[in-house]
Amino acid sequence: MKVLLAETAGFCKGVRLAMNKVLEHSEQSSRTIYTDGPLIHNPQTIEILERRGVKVLSDEDRLKLNDTVFIRTHGISPQRRKEIQSFGVTVCDATCPDVAKIQGLIRRHRRAEYMVVIVGDRNHAEVIGLAGYAGDQGHVIITAEEVATLPDAEKVCVVAQSTLETSVYFRVGEAIQKRYSNVEVLDTICPSTYRRQDEIRQLSKAADAVVVVGGRNSANTRQLVHISEGNGKPTFHVETAEELDENSLRQYHTVAVTAGASTPNWILMEVVDRLKEIEPQSASPVFRLVKQIGRFLVKSNIFVAFGSAMLCFANARLMGINPGWLPYEVTFCYILSVHLMSHFTHQGAFALAKSPGGSNQASESKFYLWLAVVSAAIALLLAGTQGPGSFMIMTLLLFLGLLYHIDIPYLRLPLGGKKLPLRLIPASKDLFMGIGWAFVTVFFPFQLKGLSFITPAFFLTFTATFLLVTIRSLFFDVRDIQEDQIVGRETLPTIIGTKGTMILIISLTSLYALVMSVGAALGWLTSFGKLMLLLTAYICFYVYLYHRRIIRRETPVEVLGNTQFVLAGVLAFLYD
Ligand code: SF4
Repeated sequence: MKVLLAETAGFCKGVRLAMNKVLEHSEQSSRTIYTDGPLIHNPQTIEILERRGVKVLSDEDRLKLNDTVFIRTHGISPQRRKEIQSFGVTVCDATCPDVAKIQGLIRRHRRAEYMVVIVGDRNHAEVIGLAGYAGDQGHVIITAEEVATLPDAEKVCVVAQSTLETSVYFRVGEAIQKRYSNVEVLDTICPSTYRRQDEIRQLSKAADAVVVVGGRNSANTRQLVHISEGNGKPTFHVETAEELDENSLRQYHTVAVTAGASTPNWILMEVVDRLKEIEPQSASPVFRLVKQIGRFLVKSNIFVAFGSAMLCFANARLMGINPGWLPYEVTFCYILSVHLMSHFTHQGAFALAKSPGGSNQASESKFYLWLAVVSAAIALLLAGTQGPGSFMIMTLLLFLGLLYHIDIPYLRLPLGGKKLPLRLIPASKDLFMGIGWAFVTVFFPFQLKGLSFITPAFFLTFTATFLLVTIRSLFFDVRDIQEDQIVGRETLPTIIGTKGTMILIISLTSLYALVMSVGAALGWLTSFGKLMLLLTAYICFYVYLYHRRIIRRETPVEVLGNTQFVLAGVLAFLYD
């Protein structure tokens, strides 16, 4: 199925700011943090936040002195603010700057004795807050017909709820201008909402159907559904990928996808991935089968394991050794096992909220767990055929891979006043993965041949492998940054930001090019080093595709990142 993804889909500026503030605070405090109402209209994210100690304030909660209460993006009325402050708590304001601007406009016009008309949903939190600023000079309406119910006034100021549909505001504003002579209609629909609505109007023209992703109680998501339906397009409103009605969607060839302002990126991308998997009724069975096989190879980590074997082959050519087939087979099994293990621990608590799952998911997990165990056993057996030394090394590598994912209390490392398991040490995943790959694809074949390790060829190939694998991990981390921030996983992008990580990726790629060129020029590596320089161009190519938003989704990012290893192997075959 062809998917047209709206560029404006996902977190808006206000939600991103609020989320960052709350997450930052929750990291620094071990106490429960309260939000006055759900931080965003997304049940899955609220569930994850609760596990991180961020709780939606309810009537049963007894606030204590020095507790922290966050005001969410919608803002609150001055009266509500005083009420919260009366408990002696710290109030942190995460009101969206665009909403705060409307509050300021209302305050100013109220002082100048205007009657304030707020156009919006009177039950929506933002409107309740705005009405508090307008006080007894304020009136909330939503239709042009309600203008007749407003009292007479000399001066009228009109504002809209920030996420109101532009056409609704236009109609009501026009009716107010007809009735009163001195009217100021203020443009308060936030630019993010405006752009999002405008884009889905345009995008839906080119699609057969529209999918809107977002909370059912999110006003701006419902507006998008309304706009799309108004355009006469079949519209599907879903909160998660599990809700997609695949049978109904199968009849469409092209589907436009947008999302509300509080829809996390990973939920949006899951929906897009799932839609791409739906084959229109017209697709040929052979095409469907090929796609399904491709998806299985990526999802099961068989593709990345194959890439590692290809890299091992390329490394042998770089060092000018021929260790036979065994190291490639061992590498394949080892990487498959370790990556599957990493997949299970990576999911952790997050998986529960990410995809509710069912028996299918449970049996799939069981299958992958078995695959991890069986591939580890085969790696050990194969290594064992080469003598006790190789067997011990493989046992140690598998043990270290496992150790990284298991929390053993006395192996925790002190950081920032806390003792953390290895995998929670910031950016440790990238470091460990790079070292693990370098050991199995460089060290293992080298020791099989009984060669001395104190050689420039060994050192340079080890470094180059570490760089390649780290580049790939960082690239994936950039894709997962929003998910990692919300679940509190500290990766390099969550610490130094997307831009900083992209700069780091390019710097590491340049370093890789330097290692290859110097190694080949000085004869420390074989002349294959020069051919491997093509990998740097390939890395720049996929980073560019990501930067230009040409690829964003999970599977294409995964395929592009792992193809660099396959490419290394293909180059080695060509070199031979
Ligand atoms: S939709 Fe607009 S007003 Fe609402 S939080 Fe986002 S940026 Fe702010």
